[in-house]
Amino acid sequence: MTSHNSQTLFDKVWARHVVVAETATNPATLYIDLHLIHEVTSPQAFTELKTRGLKVRRPDRTLATIDHSTPTRINADGSRPYVTPQAETQVETLLANTKIHGIETHGWDSEHRGIVHVMGPELGATQPGMTIVCGDSHTSTHGAFGAIAFGIGTTQVGHVLANQCLLMPKPKTMAINVNGELPRGVTPKDVILHIIAEIGVGGGTGYALEYRGNVFEEMSMEGRMTVCNMSIEAGARCGMVGPDQTTFNYIRGRKFAPEKFEGACEDWLSLRTDVGATFDKVVDIRAQDIKPMVTYGTHPGMGISIDSLIPAAQSDADQGALDYMQMTAGEEIAGTRVDKVFIGSCTNSRLEDLRAAASIFRDNKVADGVTTIIVPGSVITKYQAEEEGLHQIFIDAGAEWREAGCSMCLGMNGDIGAPGDLVVSTSNRNFMGRQGPGVRTVLASPETAAATAITGVITDPRTIGAAA
Ligand code: SF4
Repeated sequence: MTSHNSQTLFDKVWARHVVVAETATNPATLYIDLHLIHEVTSPQAFTELKTRGLKVRRPDRTLATIDHSTPTRINADGSRPYVTPQAETQVETLLANTKIHGIETHGWDSEHRGIVHVMGPELGATQPGMTIVCGDSHTSTHGAFGAIAFGIGTTQVGHVLANQCLLMPKPKTMAINVNGELPRGVTPKDVILHIIAEIGVGGGTGYALEYRGNVFEEMSMEGRMTVCNMSIEAGARCGMVGPDQTTFNYIRGRKFAPEKFEGACEDWLSLRTDVGATFDKVVDIRAQDIKPMVTYGTHPGMGISIDSLIPAAQSDADQGALDYMQMTAGEEIAGTRVDKVFIGSCTNSRLEDLRAAASIFRDNKVADGVTTIIVPGSVITKYQAEEEGLHQIFIDAGAEWREAGCSMCLGMNGDIGAPGDLVVSTSNRNFMGRQGPGVRTVLASPETAAATAITGVITDPRTIGAAA
C-alpha cells in the first residue's frame, strides 16, 4: 500500500520481479534472483527434473552447500561419522546432482561450506533488491540486506530449478518500528524474541515485515540477520531492513560483490522505503522496554524477559506447553537447572555471536554436568574465530568446539539432547522434540546461553563479569 507515489522497500523489490501480475484468481509469477539449495530439500526436486527430462534453468543463479545432515565431528582417521547411511546418501546425492547440473557447490573441500544462510551472505551472493529462496524456513535471514527472501517447499524447489520463477500472492506490508536506546546487555536476539512475544507467532501472518527505526539502523549486519532470521517465527513471509552503508560495507570485497560497486550501491539506496510510504500495519516498540529474553514454552512467541516470572497458562495449549517444559507458572525462570547449552544455528553462529559468547566464557568454566557445544556457521567463520583465539577460550572453559553445520538446531546430524534434557539454545525454534525426542528447548542469545553454561542454571548475562 502506498501514499501518493511513495513506495515501501518491499513494494519496490516486488515490482522489479513480477513476470506475470497477480489476478483475482492467480498469484503473481515472481522471478527469483538467487536459489540456495542444500542436501535435505533438493533430492526429490532433482529427481522430478530428471523424470521430466528438464535441466536447471539458471545454474548460475543457484548456489549449493551441505549443512543439515553433516556431522560436526571428524573421526581420528579423518572420516565423518554420519548419524545414518541416509544422511550420507543425502550429502552424496546433493554433490552428484549439482555436478551434473553445473551448480557452484560448497562441499567438504570448500572453506565457504556452512549453514546455507551463513554462507550466502559470506560469499556476497546475498544482495539488496534480490528475490532469494531456499528450501528452509529461515531464508528470511537474507532480508537483512533489503532482499525479499523466503523459504519454500520441496515442490517449489523443483519449480525454481526448472524455470527460475515462483507463483506467489503478494503479502501485505507491516512496519516494525523500534526506536530509542536499548538497555545495556540487550542483543539483537533479545530484540526479535521481544517482537515475537509482542505480536505473537501468528502476528506476522500474511505480511512482509520491514524492521525500521534507529535500533536497526545502528545494528550490525550480523544483528540484522539474527532479527530477520526469526521473522518466520512471527508467521511473516519475510522480514527486511533497508539497505544502507552498513549493508554496503559488509558486501564490499566479497566474491559475488558487483564489479561496478558504487553504481550498485546507488541503485540499492533507491530501494529504501520512501518518505510518506504507508504500510498496511504499523507496530511501535520502545527500545528501552526490551530486556534479555528467554522462551519458556514450545513456540518462539512464548518468550519473557529473563527477570520475569513464568506466566500463567491462558489456554489448554499453553498448559500443555508448560507441562512439557516442566515449567510452573508464577516461578522465576532464572535459576532453572539446565543440562545442555548449544551455541550455533543460522540465527547465532556468526563471528559476532562467537565473540559475544567468548567474552562471557573467558576465564570461566562450564558448570559440572552441562554439556556445551559451540558450532560455527561456516568453515570461514571457524577459521576466523580460531585466528582470534576464540576456540581456545571455549575449549579452556570446557565447551566443545565443533565443525560447521546446522547441528543441534534440529538435530538431523545426530547432535541431539537426551529425553527430558533442558537445552538453552541460540537457535530459532523451541518446538517439542526439535532437538531430540522429549528434549525441552529454551531459546536465548549467545550471551545468555554462555552465562547459563557457566552457572548451570538459566542466567542473566548482565550478572557475569565481562558482560556486566
Ligand atoms: S540452522 Fe536450523 S534453521 Fe538454520 S538452516 Fe540449519 S536447520 Fe534450518
